[in-house]
Parts: sequence; structure tokens; C-alpha cells
Amino acid sequence: MAQSTPTPHKHEFKAEVSALLKLVTNSLYTNREIFLRELISNASDALDKARFEGLTRHDMLGRDAPPEIRIEADAARGVLVLEDSGIGMTEEEATRNLGTIAHSGTLEFLRRLREQQDSGQKPDVNLIGQFGVGFYSAFMVADRIDVYSRSAHPEHAAVHWSSTGDGTFTTAPAERELRGTRIELTLKEEAREYLERVRLEHIIRRYSNYVMHPIKLAVRDDKGDLDGEERQINEASAFWARSPKDLSEDDYKSFYKHVMGGFVMPGDEPIAHLHFSADAPIQFHALLYVPGRPPADLFMEDRKSLQLFARRVMIMESCDKLLPLYLRFVRGVVDSEDLPLNVSREMLQEDRTLTAIRKQLTRKVLRLLADLAKDKPEEYTRLWRSFGAVLKEGIHTDTGHQDELVELLRYKTSTSGDDLVSLADYLAAMPEGQDAIYYLTGDNPDALARSPHLEACRGRGYQVLFMTDPIDEWVVQDLEKYKDKPLRSISQGELDLPEEDKDAEEATKEFAGTLERASELLKEQVKQVRVSRRLTESPSCLVDDEGDLSRNMERILKMANQQVPGRKRILEINAKHPFVQAVHRLSAEQPDDPRVATWIELLYDQAALAEGQIADHAGMVRRLQSVLSEVARRT
Ligand code: ADP
Repeated sequence: MAQSTPTPHKHEFKAEVSALLKLVTNSLYTNREIFLRELISNASDALDKARFEGLTRHDMLGRDAPPEIRIEADAARGVLVLEDSGIGMTEEEATRNLGTIAHSGTLEFLRRLREQQDSGQKPDVNLIGQFGVGFYSAFMVADRIDVYSRSAHPEHAAVHWSSTGDGTFTTAPAERELRGTRIELTLKEEAREYLERVRLEHIIRRYSNYVMHPIKLAVRDDKGDLDGEERQINEASAFWARSPKDLSEDDYKSFYKHVMGGFVMPGDEPIAHLHFSADAPIQFHALLYVPGRPPADLFMEDRKSLQLFARRVMIMESCDKLLPLYLRFVRGVVDSEDLPLNVSREMLQEDRTLTAIRKQLTRKVLRLLADLAKDKPEEYTRLWRSFGAVLKEGIHTDTGHQDELVELLRYKTSTSGDDLVSLADYLAAMPEGQDAIYYLTGDNPDALARSPHLEACRGRGYQVLFMTDPIDEWVVQDLEKYKDKPLRSISQGELDLPEEDKDAEEATKEFAGTLERASELLKEQVKQVRVSRRLTESPSCLVDDEGDLSRNMERILKMANQQVPGRKRILEINAKHPFVQAVHRLSAEQPDDPRVATWIELLYDQAALAEGQIADHAGMVRRLQSVLSEVARRT
């Protein structure tokens, strides 16, 4: 080949590239460090292509060249060099590939930007951060880019591509023996930080730690002398892409630490992990963990979620589109071959690949939880105590998986003490004759355990589920039934417990006058006074009417500063209780005795007190004292 100095060919960038370049170079860009991720990814792709072609082409240049990416920071020249031994480019390829925009991510980016400009908005620089803009992102940090490349196909000469990002670039033949590409970035004055070892190592590890090919870094000082040895910075092996067979528990634990940002407190070790690869319809690897304890940001808007990688390159530090919200406690990484590197958050929302991944992940995680519940109930209990309230949201939001989710529910009950009971356990323990699942909602299990509403169920040996998470109010509304057994609140509506009905009906007739008197007297406080079918020990209790908001729901809505419609509850009295009978006798025999009113009010007081909410403390104390004095007088 004649080696007279050839005149470089001058080219103009395609129109869209010029537009992009202007933007990239002129925008104050906060996250410009991603240029390195983009260049490393290109180099890694080029290495993959070379390996692939090498399988079939035997005449490839540099067949034995070690596949690696070398980065050299030269402070003396102010140049950052990236070199790979990949497939390389011919002059024609360099002109085409580096002069036009091929990928859809960038085109989409430009389209949006133009939209913004057309509608008179100021271009949003953050938009750039949401898109990778590939090779051109290097103009954010470089005044000038020189690319020296030699194709692996030996018949082509090397090329020198050069541009200052001003609308044109040149290509010319170049001297280069080795196959692959060398990119020299002449850094802008304000981008000299990208010559510092610490900075470079940090960026490489952050985005490209798991790129399969070794990334080596050498740093030269102001005099051009090597500052330390050249060394490999990345792990160069994606932990999640390895076979679970080759990994130990300790390996998983240490990777968990990495996922959690490098620090795990003793006792916070993961409860379980899930590691698998899928091939169809979408290829991806997933390594997920259930943390040992709820992360502090579990209920926060900007909490951390799964890390998303595309071909070993991190594209999103926290992607909340990979799992439904009710599985937000799961942490880990997902890596797909099928995702574009240049992808925005908005695009991810509609991305079919992502939707398919999410579907599979959801199924797998639910199966993991079900297996855990079956095989390691203690671990599952731990998980439930930490994340049960979050998981329950799924009953409300993901009807498609309701059947699986129902089996995962656990509750304390009126007979379980501190233990948790599943709905299946509950059914299995139901005595003959019980035909509903009874529950009580409230804010704390100890208070529920003292509730008078439990009495009828207790007498019959029926268990009552204690539902103490706000979300439970939604769970019972959505669920209605479990295996044909209706869910019934024991503090709402009539409790139809068959044998009791006759007694209650008779008592209602017998007590009619007293009930009427009480209803009239308490009409400000309650909408009705009736004979109870649920009390066996306490004289009275308050219940919510069928179809009304439960008291617990009212409390929750008030906590959330919601308007709560005013409504009255129902006072139930226990016709078998001696005090209630005394009230009845007195009201029938001496209707004008002032004690009748006092005692009726006391029945209301004690029902309210049993729930811990007394409006008229002073009045109650007065009424109580009068009864105490009377008891004293009689004894
Ligand atoms: P993308 O990588 O998304 O296609 P880029 O602008 O980053 O977009 O790169 C454009 C094209 O230039 C690449 O698709 C590839 O064909 C070529 N290219 C870039 N860097 C290299 C490299 N180091 N070795 C070989 N080809 C490269």
C-alpha cells in the first residue's frame, strides 16, 4: 500500500447526529460520567462480535489477541484512551457507524427533544440522562475524539476517524497492526477529573463491574510516567450468570452484601434467595433476595428496588417496574440480553420485554414464598412478620394472583397466642357446625383479645382472626370468601349463630320496654339498642351496622386525614347478665326511678370503655360511683 500521506476525507454528520451533538456538548449534564459506560459497552460488544466471528472465520486478524478493554489516562497529554481488541471497523464502517444514528433509543430521544422545543419548552437536560446516547456522549467530556480502528477482516486497512463535534468528521487511512479500536478523547479542560484513578475506578465499578471482559486501567502522571501498574478493575464475571451449582451459601451471602450497598448488619442476613435464568420468551438472569429485615425505605416513594442490567451493563440502579408493588421488599439484580442499553424510564414502562420479565419474576417469587411457607415455616413466619403487611396489598391490587396470595396470609387468632395461623389452618381447626370464618379488625392484638365481641365465638370454640394491619380492611372486602366459607366480622351486623337465635328472640320480646327506653335515652349516641347474640360474659358492647364503615376503618381514614361520614353504632346488651336483668326489672317495676337512666347510660359507658374510647369521663365516673354506693349500702 502506498504510504504517501493521504488527504483525509471530510464528511458531514447526518442531520440528526449534528442536532444530537450540539445538545450533548452544550447541555450542562449532571451525569456525564456515563460516557465511559457507553464506550466500554461498545468495546465489549466489539469483543463479543470478534469472538463470534472467530468461531467460523479462520483468517481473522489477531486470532490470539486476548479479549480485553484497556483504559489509559494520560495526564501529560490530557487524553483518555480506550482500546479494545474487538471486531474493529473499516473506513466505510466507521463512516457509517459513527456518522449516523442507528439505534432507536437515540432517535426516540431526539424526537422527544424536538417535541419539547416545538412546544416552546426549554429542552430538559435530564432527558439525556434517561437515554444513553452511545458513542456521542463522549463529546460531553471531549473537545475532540480520534478513533483508530482496524477491522478483524484482514483485507481492510486501518482507519483514523476524527471529529471535534462541530458538524463534520474526517476519515483517513491509518497505521495499525492490531485488530480492534482505539479511541482517544482529548478531554475538555473542565473534564480532567476523568484522568484521575479514583474517579475512573469508581465509574468502571459502578456501571461496568460485571462486563465479561477484563477492563484494565493504567494511569500516567503529568510527566507521562506510569503511576503504578496497569491493573484490572472490574470483576469481569457476572455472579448471576454463573450456575447455582457452582455457588456456595457464602457466595450468595457476600453478593447480597454487594446488592445492599456493601453493608449488612448481623441478623439482617437474607431469609431466602432465588437464582434462575430464563430463556423463553425472554432471555434473562435473575438473582433475588428476601432481606432479613424490612429496609427503612420500604414505605417510601423513592425506595431502592431491583437493579437492572442489560448484557452485564447496569442501566438502572433501581427499577421498580420489575416486580409488583406488593413485592417491593425483594432486592437483587435482573440482567437481560434482550433489553436495549439505551432505554429510558418512560420507555421501560411500555417495554414488552420488561412486562414479560415482570410476569415471570412475580410467578417465581410467589412460588418461592409458597415453598418457604411449606418447607421452612419458621423462616416464613419471620418473613411474614417483616413483610406481611406489604404482601397483603397484593390481595387488593393483583386479583390475578389472589389464589396464591390468599394461601400466604397469616394471622394471630383468639386462640393462637403469639403463633400465626393460615386460612387453611383455620379451616382445619373449625369445629362441627361453624360455617364462617370470623375475624375482628383493630389496631392491636392485645386489645382485640380483650374484646367482648369474642365471647360467643369463644363459648363455641370458634377461632377468631385478629386483623391488625390497616390493609386488612381491604383484604376482607376483596376476599369475601375462602374455600366457600364467608369471612364475617364479629363486630359488625348480626351474628347469626343458630342455637342462640331462639333465646335472643324471646329475650327481645321480654325486654321490649327496656330496649325502647334505652334507645330513646341513648339516641344521641347510638342508632339502636338490641339484645345481643354475641355476648356471654360482658353486659354490653358496641357493634357496627351491616354495611357501615367499621370503627377500625373509620380510625384508619381519620389517620389519613380523610373525611369520614358521621354514623352511629348499635348498642347490644346481654339479656343473661345480672346487671342487665336488674336494669330491666327496675325499669319495668319503677319506671320513674332515676337510677334506670343512670344504669342504662352505664351500659353504654362500659361498652365504650371496652373499646378504649370514652367521650364523657366525668359522667361515667359519677354514674359508677352511684352504683358502687348502692352496692355498699346493700351489703
Ligand atoms: P450503539 O452502540 O447503540 O449502536 P453507538 O453510537 O455507541 O451506538 O455506536 C455506533 C456504532 O459504532 C456501533 O453500533 C458499532 O457498530 C460501532 N462502534 C462503536 N464503538 C465501537 C468499537 N469500539 N469497536 C467496533 N465498533 C464500534
